[in-house]
Amino acid sequence: MMEEKGAENGVAAMAACYQGFDPATYLQNNYSPQQADLERKDSLDPWTLACLHRAFTEGDVSGELLVDIGSGPTLYQVMSGCEVFNKVLLTDFLEVNRQELRSWLQDEGGCSLDWTPFLQHVCKLEGRPPSAWTEKASRLRQVIMDIVHVDVHRPQPLALDVLPAAGADCLLSCYCLESASPDLAAFTRALGNIGRLLRPGGHLLLIGTLGMSYYFGGPGVKIPTVPVNEAQVCASLKENGYTLIRLEVYTLPQDMNLKFDDESGVFFVKAIKK
Ligand code: SAM
Repeated sequence: MMEEKGAENGVAAMAACYQGFDPATYLQNNYSPQQADLERKDSLDPWTLACLHRAFTEGDVSGELLVDIGSGPTLYQVMSGCEVFNKVLLTDFLEVNRQELRSWLQDEGGCSLDWTPFLQHVCKLEGRPPSAWTEKASRLRQVIMDIVHVDVHRPQPLALDVLPAAGADCLLSCYCLESASPDLAAFTRALGNIGRLLRPGGHLLLIGTLGMSYYFGGPGVKIPTVPVNEAQVCASLKENGYTLIRLEVYTLPQDMNLKFDDESGVFFVKAIKK
């Protein structure tokens, strides 16, 4: 009982931190041309985009519906998957992030970030000319079926009528679970909660930071996060009935100066739900 109350308090404290999250600052800190150098081969974003490209084009990930958990205000993560799935559902805890995504979807201006360099980069990975980015943007706008609220700390993270009874064919989640969890137990529980949204035999693609204890989600908004390592991620996956296909690790180059968080690296997981 005491333990349950403690867990609830930890999760509530995280939710309170997120009230200061500012999509424009988060995008500027992490995905603006000044921060995300897509030309530099050893920088993080090309690595992430390559992991996603490979995962979606290996031939084993298929179906109708891809669900992205904790999309935040970002779109890079579904730029490969949108070519494989006819329906993509974006989700986030915060209305400000869902609004940022809607702005892009409606294509009427007012977006905090121009995603063109990311679209061009993924086109190149697919062997298409960078100029094909407009087709990719149209495809993405066509397949995004909705942008809805999610809470990974609830046993039922999405509203009941959002998904078909069978569940999603593939779940994607980037930098969400460790950023939304006060401790490892909450991270593991959240992994189990989102797993209920996935059909048996469906794939999980999970990207997260390693060893990160905070990041800035807005001007002066320091969000405490749970630092995890590879072994803990693997144990959490096992505990929740996933079979690991592959875990890849990106280690930050020594000369890469971190201004907005203290991560030591990033993991990419491809797993399948038993
Ligand atoms: N996926 C994006 C990316 O790749 O940059 C955003 C990641 S951001 C570090 C963490 C995200 O987790 C935020 O968008 C935040 O709104 C979301 N979040 C916070 N608490 C959450 C919760 N309880 N359930 C689901 N998402 C949550």
